[in-house]
Amino acid sequence: MNILHYVTKKQEISAKLKKLKAACDAAHNGSDEPDGAKAGADGGEEGEGEIGEKNTVTTPCGGGGCGSSPSSSSLSAYDKEELQKRLNPKQYQVTQQRGTEKAFSGKYVKWKEEGVYNCVVCGTQLFSSESKYDSNSGWPAFYDVLGKEKVTLQEENLGGLQRMEVKCRECQAHLGHVFDDGPKPTGIRYCVNSCSLDFRKHTTV
Ligand SMILES: [Zn+2]
Repeated sequence: MNILHYVTKKQEISAKLKKLKAACDAAHNGSDEPDGAKAGADGGEEGEGEIGEKNTVTTPCGGGGCGSSPSSSSLSAYDKEELQKRLNPKQYQVTQQRGTEKAFSGKYVKWKEEGVYNCVVCGTQLFSSESKYDSNSGWPAFYDVLGKEKVTLQEENLGGLQRMEVKCRECQAHLGHVFDDGPKPTGIRYCVNSCSLDFRKHTTV
């Protein structure tokens, strides 16, 4: 068990990961995919009943640079109650409250089937089995995403432990973290909770 080591080791976000974050943001901003069409269909009712309940979550903003995401306390565009019904408690905790499943406990740690891993909340296709590899970390690992525009990377600083959080761009579900110790060709490791994912087998027609 080297989890302790893993947790206490001081890590800083490398230039490589910062570059990746910029690339993800750029991919999103430059994207003119037609699936943006539904945006704006529902408007006007946000904010009601959300105040005063979320105070337990404090985001440490020591180093500055937190100003870019004022809405980080409400992670999802989905209705809380609906999500609590639809997701199991672990899925809810991981995706909506930035939880982490226990190492080696997740369904997809050793999953080898060919297919696509979707966001468990909104169904966005995030990772392919082709980029999945065994990182021995205890969580599913991928060296690439299906499209950089599909995820949002966000710097996180918890008591000196700096990491880059990975979220689903579409629904803001917490997925896991990204590190720069992955294999070729990218050298990137997306370390993702099984709870955040919904695997779909390739269907052959
Ligand atoms: Zn999503």
